Amino acid sequence: MARKRSKKSGEGKGEPLPKGIRAILRKDISRREFIKKSIVGAGTLALGVYSIDHYILNRGRDLFSGIFNRDAPSTPPLFSREAEFYVKKGNMVQCKLCPFECILGEGDRGHCRTRANINGKLYTLAYGNPCTIHIDPIEKKPLFHFLPKTKAFSLAVGGCNLRCMYCQNWEISQVKPESVEEYELPPERLAEAASQTHQKDNSIKTIAYTYSEPVAFYEYVLDSARASSNRGLKNVIITSGYINKKPLLKWAGVVDAIKIDLKGFNEKFYRKINGAELEGVLRSIKTVAKSRAFLEVVNLVVPTLNDNYDELRQMASWLRHNIGKDTPLHFSRFYPNYRLRNLPPTPINTLRKAREIALDEGLHYVYIGNVPHDTYENTYCPKCKALLIERIGYFVKKNVIKNGRCPYCGTKINGVWS
Ligand code: SF4
Repeated sequence: MARKRSKKSGEGKGEPLPKGIRAILRKDISRREFIKKSIVGAGTLALGVYSIDHYILNRGRDLFSGIFNRDAPSTPPLFSREAEFYVKKGNMVQCKLCPFECILGEGDRGHCRTRANINGKLYTLAYGNPCTIHIDPIEKKPLFHFLPKTKAFSLAVGGCNLRCMYCQNWEISQVKPESVEEYELPPERLAEAASQTHQKDNSIKTIAYTYSEPVAFYEYVLDSARASSNRGLKNVIITSGYINKKPLLKWAGVVDAIKIDLKGFNEKFYRKINGAELEGVLRSIKTVAKSRAFLEVVNLVVPTLNDNYDELRQMASWLRHNIGKDTPLHFSRFYPNYRLRNLPPTPINTLRKAREIALDEGLHYVYIGNVPHDTYENTYCPKCKALLIERIGYFVKKNVIKNGRCPYCGTKINGVWS
C-alpha cells in the first residue's frame, strides 16, 4: 500500500491513472522508516515555520535566498542521493545547481527545501518520492508542437527554488518533499510504471516532470529520463528555467523537450513576484534553444504587474532575435491564486493584444492559453495561413500536418511530430 498521510498531494489534476497502475506504484514503507521520518518531520516543523515567516517578512527586500538552518535530516533518508553540481568548502557545501548557489553549513537545507548538507556532503532529498502522479494531455503542459494528441505520465516532487506569489501549485511547491504525500518510485520503477501505462494506453508517450519545479528534483529527472528513454518513452521538463547552464545542458542532453516559463520581461517584477532573476531565465532559454531538446516558452500575463504592452513587445522582440521566429510562445491567462487573490483574471483582450504584438514582432506561433474555446489555441501555417491543428482546450480536434510540413504549401512546421 502507498504510504498515506493526511497531506496535500496536488490531487485533482488530469486523468486518474489507468486501473492496475496505482498498484504498481504502491509499496510498503516499513513502520520503522515511517516513524523515523515522522520524528524528523515533527522536529523540523518549528524551524520551517520560522523560515517561512522570515521569508514573508523579507518579501519587500532584494532577491532573498532563505536557507533553512539546521533543518536537514541527520543521515541520508530513504529518498535521497548525493547531489550533483556542488563544491565542498571544509564541512560547508556550495550548491551549484541554480543561480542562488546556496552555501550550506552542516545540517542546513537549501532555499528550494530539497537539498541538504548531511555530514559535509550535499544530498538531494527529492529522489524517487513524487507527491502527485497523473496522466495529462501533452497540450496541458502546454506543449503544442510536441507529439500533439498524446498523453504524458506527469509527476512532481514537493519543493521549488522560486517563490511565485501566484503559484497555482503552491501546496506542493512551497513545501518540503517529506511534508506531502510520497509515492516510492525510484527512477527504474518510474520508468517501468510509465512503460506499463504506455502498454495499456498507447497514447501515453512521454514522462513529464511538472506541477512543482523540476530543478528542485534535478537528479531524479536526470536518472528517470535515462532509465525511460531506452524503453521508448520521451521525457519533457516543465520549468521556470532558473538553473545554471552546466546542469541545464546535462538535462538537455537526455530529455526531448523543455518548456520554460518566462514570467515577465522586467527584472523588478521577477525579483519581487517570483523571487528570481530575469537574466538567469533568459540564459536558460538561449541554452535550450541551442540544444537538441525542443523548446516552447510560456508567459503568464498578470494584470497590472507584467501586462505592459511595451514590455511584452520587448519580450517578443528578444525571443525573435535570440531564439528565432519558429519557437512557440504561449500567453497564458492568470487566475487569482495563493498570495495574489486580490487581482482579477487577465482580460481576454489583453491576451489578444499580447498575441498581436508578438506576431507583429515576427513570431510565427503565438497562442493564448487558459481560455478554452478560443481560436488562438489553433496552429496556422505561417506562410499560407491554413489551419493545421484545431484545438478545443486540451483536445485536438484535427491535425493535418504531414511529415512535419503544411500539406497545402509544404512549409516546414517547427516541432516534434512523431
Ligand atoms: S538548487 Fe536549491 S540548494 Fe541549490 S542553489 Fe538552488 S535553491 Fe540553493
